[in-house]
Formats: sequence, C-alpha cells, structure tokens
Amino acid sequence: MIPNHSPWIKQLKRTRPVVPLDKDMSSDVAIVGGGIAGVTTAFFTLRDTDKTVVLVEANKIAHGATGHNAGQLASYFERSLSDLVEEFGVELAIDGQRSVESAWILLDEIIAEAKLQTPVYRFTGYAGLSRFDQVLLHLKNSRYRADHGLIQETIILADHWDKLADIPKEFKDLYSLAPQKDLIQLLETNNTDYIACLSFQKGCMNSALFSEELIGYLIATYKDRFSFYEGSPVATVRLNDSNASLEVLGHTIGAGRVVLCTNGFENFSIINEAGAEIETKFHHLVAGRIGYMSGYVEPLNNPPVAISYFPKTDQYSNDPTGESYFYLTRRPHEHEGKDSYNLVCAGGPEKVLPNGAGYSSEDYCSEDVQASIDEFLRSNYDKHTRETEYSFCWHGLMGYTPNGIRRIGFEPCNPILLYNLGCNGVGILPSIFGGKRISRLLNNEQVEQSIFDPHDQSCGA
Ligand SMILES: Cc1cc2nc3c(=O)[nH]c(=O)nc-3n(C[C@H](O)[C@H](O)[C@H](O)COP(=O)(O)OP(=O)(O)OC[C@H]3O[C@@H](n4cnc5c(N)ncnc54)[C@H](O)[C@@H]3O)c2cc1C
Repeated sequence: MIPNHSPWIKQLKRTRPVVPLDKDMSSDVAIVGGGIAGVTTAFFTLRDTDKTVVLVEANKIAHGATGHNAGQLASYFERSLSDLVEEFGVELAIDGQRSVESAWILLDEIIAEAKLQTPVYRFTGYAGLSRFDQVLLHLKNSRYRADHGLIQETIILADHWDKLADIPKEFKDLYSLAPQKDLIQLLETNNTDYIACLSFQKGCMNSALFSEELIGYLIATYKDRFSFYEGSPVATVRLNDSNASLEVLGHTIGAGRVVLCTNGFENFSIINEAGAEIETKFHHLVAGRIGYMSGYVEPLNNPPVAISYFPKTDQYSNDPTGESYFYLTRRPHEHEGKDSYNLVCAGGPEKVLPNGAGYSSEDYCSEDVQASIDEFLRSNYDKHTRETEYSFCWHGLMGYTPNGIRRIGFEPCNPILLYNLGCNGVGILPSIFGGKRISRLLNNEQVEQSIFDPHDQSCGA
C-alpha cells in the first residue's frame, strides 16, 4: 500500500509554522482557501487595490488540488471551444478562451514582480489523436480560433490516413500533412494508432511551490494590509447587506467582502441574512472527481515536454462520464540533492465521487489505477523503460461545476460574496486569471460580462 505522495508537496520544504486564527478581527476582504486561486487572488487584490486582506486556510497553503495536480500549464477548457460557442455564443466563448490565455502574461507578471524562483518551463506541447471524431472536433475548434483571431493550434495529419478524404472542405486550410513516422516522433510514441498531432504552447511548474513562495512575498511586502492564517477552517459565512462575518475556530472575522477560493464549497454553511437563500444546490452540483497520478525519476536525457494521448478506445479509463485521455509531463527535477534528473509524471484515470461521499487525501494510492497508468505508458510512451520504479503516486480532488466552467465573480443573491473556484480539470491558469478578475471587481471597475459569471436561478445573473 502506497500513501498519497506528491512530488510538489515534497519540494515545498517549508519551515514556516502553522499559525491559526486566535482572535476576532476585521478586514476589507476575506479570502477563504489557500490554493493557487486564493494566493493569486490575494496578490492581485493587494497589488491593485488599497484594501486590507485576510486569507484563511483550513489546512496548509497549497496542500489541496494545488499540491496534487499534474502541474501542467495549459490554457484550454476541458470542454471544446465549439461546445462553448454552442452554449454561450461566439463572442462570449472566444472572449472566455482569450481570458484564460491572458493568464500566461499574468503569470509572468507575478513571477517578475515577486521575484519568484519557482522554475517555470515553457515549450510546445503535443496531443495525439487516434480517431476521426477527435480530429473533426479539433478542426471545428480550430475554425473558430482562426476566424476569431485566436492563436492557432498546429494540426498535422498522417498523409496516408484513409479518412483524409472524409474531412469537410471547410477545414482544408487548417491542417498540414506529414508522414506518420514524423508525427509519432513528436508524440514520443511507437503507437501507430495516432494519426494526428496537435501542438500548442504549454508549460509546467510546481504550483504548490509557486503558491508557497508567493505567500512569503505577500507576508513580507504587505505587512500593514495582509494577514494570513493556516489550520483555520471557516465554519460559517454569514452575509448581510453591506458586510459579512466568518466563524473560524470560535473567533469572528468581520469582512466587507468574502471571496471563496475553496475549489468547491467545502465543509461550511453560507447564511444569507439579506435576501434569498444562496443556491445551496450548487454545492451539491459541484461534482467531485479524484484524479490519479504516478511519477518516476530518470536521468536528465530529454528536454521538458507535455504530451496528451487520446487513445482509440476507452479501455484505460476509470471515468465513466467523459472521454479518457492520458497526459504526461517531463521536467527537470532535483533528486538526492542533485538536479541532473527528470521527473516524468503521468495521469488520466479519474474516479467520480458518489454524491455526498467524502474525499480523504490520506487514502492510499489505488494499485489498479497505478497499474493502468503504467500499462498506458508502456504502450504509448516510447521513452518509458521497464526498469523504472515509480517514486511518487498521488491523487487530488477536482470540483467540476455543472457546466465545466470556473466560477469567477459576484454571488447573484448577495454580491458581498464572490467566487474564484471550480477546478474543472484545468485550473492553474484559470485560477490566476480569476484572481485578476476578482481584484477588478473588488476595485469597482466596470468588468465585461463573461462565461465565468456565476448564475443562480433564484436571483438571476
Ligand atoms: C490529479 C489532478 C491533476 C491536475 N492537473 C492539472 C494540470 O495539469 N493543469 C492545471 O491547470 N490544473 C490541473 N489540475 C487542477 C488544478 O490543480 C486546480 O484547478 C488548482 O490547483 C485549483 O486551485 P484552487 O486554489 O482553486 O484549489 P485548491 O488547491 O484545492 O485550494 C482550495 C483550498 O481551500 C481550502 N478550504 C476548503 N474549505 C475551506 C474552509 N472551510 N476553510 C478554509 N479553507 C478551506 C482547502 O484546504 C484548500 O487548500 C489538476 C487537479 C488534480 C486533482
């Protein structure tokens, strides 16, 4: 039995003691949750407004999804762009896509301003497709990208593929052809099921280390306006007309605004004294999915990369709800005091948490899931060696909102409450974009409507 052991948490090497809330206090803004969403929301709020901020974390900084992800910097949604267009219309969908891509620059800004040392690797990432429907979907997305001024994904199709003639004419300008051996080389595979290769800007970083470093910067830089407590679970959020109060460890935090950065709503109640009951259904609708990862260390023989594999069949999937894919990242990694190693991580299998079931980060890694990741790597990643032992296996909780889009903005039933939450599989860059958007809302800026705006049937948008 192997315990939940993430390389990102291991790299934290934290020395800062946990300081829980031990008194009543007040602040203009209270942020609940100290993952990357909470920490970057605090960064932008402190930098771009003159407000006082308190951040309260139930456990320790970055020990939630932020410390248990794949650490891939990716600016896509786990829903296709064409699907978003169908739901929101072209303008809002394209704007949403552009917003998430804007987080690349916001990330650079944070790193430069706070002088963070957390390594960020940027490179071209690849995705291998093996079926006609997958190719068609990506071409459809690509059409929207091309027609609306978004940066194009490169799409290469195998020149001998027997389905080439079935591709609709309207997509002809969106792809190029190449011998299959060239495209599977980009995918680092020998598996000839892959007949298409997409490429786009990607990257990777340890988002837990990033959050931990950033919190250190905030503590040092905003001594007069920022306070921060770990080991401090919020039990109740009570909302009034013009302010809120939070109950934490028997103390009260008075706040002008409350921002939930909790991934989903977790373990607390929200009481709205000034209007309709907050849509508690949302709480139940945020579906938990546990994502599983394995990682091994190898000599530093290859450059950093991120590759996703969309196999022909779903035989490896533990996720009954969606299309399965596996994702792999390779990046330099310090091991036994030396930095001449790579860490290769792979994930893909997910388990949907039954409604109402709890998730425990203490649970052991599932051997079945580990075996399925290993089996997938062996038959898809040509640099995987049989001798390699897995040094890490870990899992983390993802909260999926009903429409798969992060919630960023005011609670419609009471705007004293705001959200920057909903992991939805890809959450690092969206959290950062969300942090910036929240700071603009808190600054009373006119912020354009977006696909991220929270909706509530009882109170309208
Ligand atoms: C296996 C896996 C792989 C992933 N891979 C990627 C990837 O490659 N790329 C990507 O972009 N995203 C990925 N994600 C998603 C990404 O990790 C998250 O979207 C991102 O870390 C979200 O951060 P967060 O701050 O919203 O949530 P979290 O990091 O979960 O932080 C929420 C925090 O809120 C705290 N909290 C909850 N309730 C309370 C309370 N009552 N009081 C006080 N604090 C509370 C929690 O303790 C927690 O620390 C992955 C996720 C998983 C699980």
